[in-house]
Formats: sequence, structure tokens, C-alpha cells
Amino acid sequence: MRRLVIVSNRVADPSQNSSGGLAVCLLDALRERGGLWFGWNGAIVADESEIAPACTKYDRCVLMTMPLTERDYREYYLGFSNETLWPIHHYRLDLARFTLEAAEGYRRVNARFADVLTPNLNRSDLIWVHDYHLIPLGADLRARGVGNEIGFFFHIPFPPPEILVATPEHEWLMNSLLEYDLIGFQTISDQANFCRFVCEFLGGEMVSPNTLNVGGKYVKAGVFPVGIDVDSFAAMAKSPEAKTRIDRTLVRGEERVYVIGVDRLDYSKGLPERFRAFKALLESYPTGSKPATLIQIASPTRDDLQAYINIRHELESLSGEINGKFGDFDWTPLRYIHRTVARDVLAGLYRASRIGLVTPLRDGMNLVAKEYIAAQDPSDPGVLILSRFAGAADDLEEALTVNPYDIHEVAHAMRRAIEMSKKERIERHRALMKRIRHHDANNWMTSFLRALRSCRRRQHPALTQLDESGAAA
Ligand code: UDP
Repeated sequence: MRRLVIVSNRVADPSQNSSGGLAVCLLDALRERGGLWFGWNGAIVADESEIAPACTKYDRCVLMTMPLTERDYREYYLGFSNETLWPIHHYRLDLARFTLEAAEGYRRVNARFADVLTPNLNRSDLIWVHDYHLIPLGADLRARGVGNEIGFFFHIPFPPPEILVATPEHEWLMNSLLEYDLIGFQTISDQANFCRFVCEFLGGEMVSPNTLNVGGKYVKAGVFPVGIDVDSFAAMAKSPEAKTRIDRTLVRGEERVYVIGVDRLDYSKGLPERFRAFKALLESYPTGSKPATLIQIASPTRDDLQAYINIRHELESLSGEINGKFGDFDWTPLRYIHRTVARDVLAGLYRASRIGLVTPLRDGMNLVAKEYIAAQDPSDPGVLILSRFAGAADDLEEALTVNPYDIHEVAHAMRRAIEMSKKERIERHRALMKRIRHHDANNWMTSFLRALRSCRRRQHPALTQLDESGAAA
């Protein structure tokens, strides 16, 4: 079996229970087949003399990591990655900031990653680069003579070309993307936005549904929706530990309807709109009734950036306002927890909650939506309310789909979920379980790697059709 080399901004820490399901899935694949995972170790050092890479062995795989300097962290990570690319890819031109230093830092760190990785590669390695921090890495590796198949996957949305062209460096970035053999997207509309950009702005043409020709260079673009390991998440949700946690957290002598929200505290997640929708729900009931309690876990993220500080203040103010207006001596309507919670605890909370509220304004996929479904008791499941702007909404048709900007629509969906019959909840849940099993984590990884293996660089597209059962599924 060919060795797999994964490159991502952060490398998963095998000892951390809060690593997402995806990290676990990639780590399992590497352990099984042997491989290398390369990226940042999360540490920040003063200058370049301290950034030597270090290797740790974990079963059959090697984790090769290195720190960033303070300047790299500011320019590459906070700057170009998270103040330019992240907002633009989430359709938020209003929040995008651009500086020449940040763009330069982004180029510098990508080039350094390529310098460190190249001597550690074998000719037969399959190389898989992840996400927006590392768009130019493929071109940097090519410039150093790497001829292997290299794939790239966008975990985040790909915006319409009209938005993308507002990135000052977009031509360079998009041209460097064309050095990958395969580019993977979460949804058909992300893939379509990319293909439209290549055709309208770079003079490319579609030569098959998944293949672009740009000046004689053939690049494949496929759709590979990310999923979770359904069985292990379901098992976690009904473990004795999860049950103890639920009993301790939720039951206070009285039956209540719990609504759960779990997100990084990011402006793309639509949290202020969600709080306002919850307020509208409370207002729609007679005074004194306590129709539902919202538990919102908002894990800290990128809190060095102003846009993230602003949204935290907004949420603190809104939650104070809601609890002040509707709370009672024995009831806090909105429990807002600004902390990272371990996944086994989350699994228990999902299972105990009648409603899973997933209302991002824009999201690549949203794994919380899939975890909520997997965690339910099939004989008495809860209801998923899902934003139409999450990638997951493409597939999860039996959720209650909402426009997250319309707080009355979201409030109405919550009311509908509270009143929904058990029969309807069971039917919807059964259908949703089928869907998350069909597009699970293993399927995502194997279909991407199958498509990548079938790439032969710069040959005629007739030789390089995507495997239809994988990428086009
Ligand atoms: N998560 C966690 N603890 C938290 C909050 C989130 O372990 O306190 C996990 C969550 O279970 C999920 C992931 O982080 O697996 C979030 O993935 P998602 O696709 O929903 O959003 P992202 O953070 O990637 O934008």
C-alpha cells in the first residue's frame, strides 16, 4: 500500500479527547497503513532559530511538527488565513482585512513547509493537503521537483467568483491551486463556484463533469462531503459516563425541553441570530411558561482577533438580556458556556436534548449536525434544526431546514420541534441516520484517496476520469 502523507495547519494530538472526528479518522488511516502527518504543533516561538521540526512515532505513523514564530502566527495564521481567506470564503467581505505583510507571511510559511517536507517524501507517496491555510503548498512542492499525485481538500466553503475576486491575491492563489491533481469540495455548489471561477477568470474549460483544462493543464475537481464515524459516536452517547453526565447536568427534578447548540465562537456560526430566535420563541409563549432551555457551548477560537472579541461581547450581552428578562429563581433559560467541552460529554448532551440547533450563516459542512443525529435514542429521538447555508443541508433533507437570518422562522421551527409527534421524530431520525451512514468519515477518506490514486499528472482526461462511486457520489 502506498504511503499517505497528510499536511494540515495543525496536526491532531492523539491524546486529546476534544480532537474532532475527522482528525481521529485521518489518524486511524495513518496508523493502519503507515504514513506521515506534517504541520504546526500549536507552539509559538520568538524567532526562526527555534523552529526545527520534531518527529513523534504513533503506531505505524510519524507525526512531524514544527512551531511557528510570533511573526508567522500574526501574519500567516491570524492575518492572511483568518482575517483574509476565512471571511472571504464565508461570504463576509465586510469582515475581510488584507495587508501585504500578512500575504507575505502566508507565502513564507507555505514555502518553509515545502522546504521541510520535500526531503522527507518518497517517490510513491500520495500527498493530501488540507484546507485554506495551505493553498499554495502544492505549487511550492512542484517548484521543488515533487512529481507525486497531490490532492487538496477545502473544508470551508468556496465562494462565488464575484466575492473571491475581492481577495487582492486571488489570481496567484487560484493559479497555485491548479498545481494540485485533485481538488476536493464539500458540496456541489462549492465545486461549481470553483469551476465557474476557473472558466470565467482563468480561461479554463470543463472537459468532463469533474475535469478542467486550463491551458493544457488538467485538474480534477470533485465533491467529497465530510462525515463522522457514526457507530463510535452513537456508542459514546449511550455510555454510562455520558448518562452520569446527563443526569448531573440536566435533570433538576423537573422535565424540561433542552435545546443544544455547539459551535466554535465564530461569526460564521450565526450565534447572535440564534440567541435572538430563542428570545422570539420565549416571547411567543404566555408569560411565566418555561417552554425550553437553550444550552449553548461556544468554544473559544482565534480570540486574538477583533471580530472574535466583538462577537463574544455581543453574545455576553444578549445572554444577560435574555436571562434577565425571562429567567426565574428556579430557571436559567439560556446557559451560555464559553469553554471547550470534551466530545464524550457533548455526545451525552446531544442525546439528552430534544432539539439540536445548528444555524450557521455559512459553513463548509458542520459535523455537529451529524453528531447530533448519531447521538439520539432511535426510540425517542430529538429533532435537528439546520441552516440551509450549512454544507450538511445539501444531504440532510429530513432535518427542519431554516434560513438562519430569519429569526421568526427559526423560532417557529423550534416550536414545531417541541410539538412534533414521536412518530414523526422517529421517521425523520431513521432517514437521517441512513444519510450520515452513507456519507461517513471512512467513505469521505477512501473516496478522496481513490480519486487521487487514479490521477496521472498532465495526461489526457480520458485516462483520468474520477471514480464515479466516490467523488461524484
Ligand atoms: N467540538 C468539541 N468541543 C467543543 C466544541 C466542538 O469537541 O467544545 C467538536 C465537535 O464535536 C465537532 C467539531 O468540534 O466534532 C466542530 O466541527 P464542525 O464541523 O461542526 O465545525 P468547525 O469547528 O469545523 O467549523
